[in-house]
Amino acid sequence: MKIGIFGGTFDPPHSGHLTLARSALEQLQLDEVLFLPANKNPLKSRAGITPGKHRLAMVQRLIQKEEGFSLSDMELTRGGVSYTVDTLGELQMVRPAEYWFLMGADALRGLPDWKNPQRLMRLCRLGVAVRPPMTEHDVMARVPAEFKGKVDVVKMSPMDVSSTDIRNRLARNQPVTGLVSPEVLQYIREQKLYKD
Ligand code: ATP
Repeated sequence: MKIGIFGGTFDPPHSGHLTLARSALEQLQLDEVLFLPANKNPLKSRAGITPGKHRLAMVQRLIQKEEGFSLSDMELTRGGVSYTVDTLGELQMVRPAEYWFLMGADALRGLPDWKNPQRLMRLCRLGVAVRPPMTEHDVMARVPAEFKGKVDVVKMSPMDVSSTDIRNRLARNQPVTGLVSPEVLQYIREQKLYKD
């Protein structure tokens, strides 16, 4: 079994996330991509993060019509700071498989600062997607030499979209068509999220 773990804050989930997950599923020939909303990202904290139950509900709406995608609340229910190495360790115990940790190229920047990267790289491979302004060449250049053999580049058409941009647009009542799926947008409206 080949499983891609897709961790993120997903505040909110957007078309860049979906494209990355689809590209990884196809190119790495995964059986499944498991979305894992983080409780607290150790390297990317900010005030006013949307409660986990809403982020979970939005990801559920993002993936509901997709084949091969699933969702786990394990980091949210564990609480505290979400360390990827702890999550992968737990997953390898309850559901042994070949794992890839999926991420955009920007997230790779923090790799040396992650908790126990050596152990993490024994538990999984990395599937890294190019994200503007970085290129495929930049991606491999950023991988520490000791991990180069454990990284697969995921090609995707560059999508210049981020949750930050979407939050800003929604706060200013600007359109987010094409950036957020209609189902996710409906949830945002119903729950009155991202209003400043
Ligand atoms: P924010 O703007 O709040 O920092 P974000 O858009 O980066 O959020 P996250 O939930 O933090 O979204 O991202 C989860 C993962 O998805 C990360 O590995 C990130 O690199 C990746 N990702 C997000 N957007 C894109 C994109 N447009 N292209 C490629 N990867 C992306």
